[in-house]
Amino acid sequence: MSTSDRWTTPAHEALRASEGFRLADFDPTGKPGWDGKSKHADAHLAQQGVLLSGLQERLFAEGRSDGKRSVLLVLQGMDTSGKGGVVRHVVGMVDPQGVQLTAFGVPTEEERKHPYLWRIENALPQPGKLGVFDRSHYEDVLVVRVHKLVPPKVWGARYDEINEFEARVVASGTTIVKVALMVSSAEQKKRLRERLERPDKYWKYNPGDLDERLLWPKYAEAYQAVFDRTSTDVAPWFVVPADRKWYARLAVTELLTHAFKGLDLGWPPADFDVAAEMARLDAQQP
Ligand code: ADP
Repeated sequence: MSTSDRWTTPAHEALRASEGFRLADFDPTGKPGWDGKSKHADAHLAQQGVLLSGLQERLFAEGRSDGKRSVLLVLQGMDTSGKGGVVRHVVGMVDPQGVQLTAFGVPTEEERKHPYLWRIENALPQPGKLGVFDRSHYEDVLVVRVHKLVPPKVWGARYDEINEFEARVVASGTTIVKVALMVSSAEQKKRLRERLERPDKYWKYNPGDLDERLLWPKYAEAYQAVFDRTSTDVAPWFVVPADRKWYARLAVTELLTHAFKGLDLGWPPADFDVAAEMARLDAQQP
């Protein structure tokens, strides 16, 4: 079995939220661009993991040699959409030394004293790092909009602010990969039921998730606005069907690998005299 060519359309093309993207027409059970079976997916994921890990090591090495570049994976999605699984199974395939993971919850007292982008700016990846945002500044136009936590005028101005912010981040050397994991309402119900049925999943259950479910149409509207207004050329959105966990993980791996490949990473040259160092080593005791 060959596991090398199962993408008939590259993930970054098949999943990009381009102009005219409509969430209402989107199929969360789909597997755009992927032609293989789930059993091939596991083998492909492992294979891509090796590739991704090698690329990330090059970026890490570059960061150690005065490089300024980094990659930032922004993960958004409704409850149970599998953000945690992506962190564990996709990001988990690379060396943790090179990863800078931040989960954004309800802003703390300290964070509330600052503009909403303050905590985001502070968590941006250092040179050489793969930054991962589990939720992000997009909560400030999602949960904040749906729950009317600030007036419409305030959240309404944020789309442009976010675009300007991201353009600045990209210009400073960070490649941004924005992924929205989209689960269907039926699949979410199933996953929530599982959390109630299995004691090993109770810890993931939050009674508030059921109240949020009732606001599904409002969230759909807020996500649509995010895609309409913040899927830019410098930082486009990729909308990933998440009902099949294996597909979502494979797709995010592919999107990340594509981003890393775009950096055309090599190994940094030695900043010492290799021959002289070799001679010194040879001259030492065994
Ligand atoms: P998760 O649900 O991702 O596993 P948590 O249980 O910690 O993680 O939930 C994080 C919560 O924080 C979510 O309900 C999310 O909507 C909320 N949150 C994140 N950012 C903000 C924000 N800027 N304003 C209000 N709530 C936020």
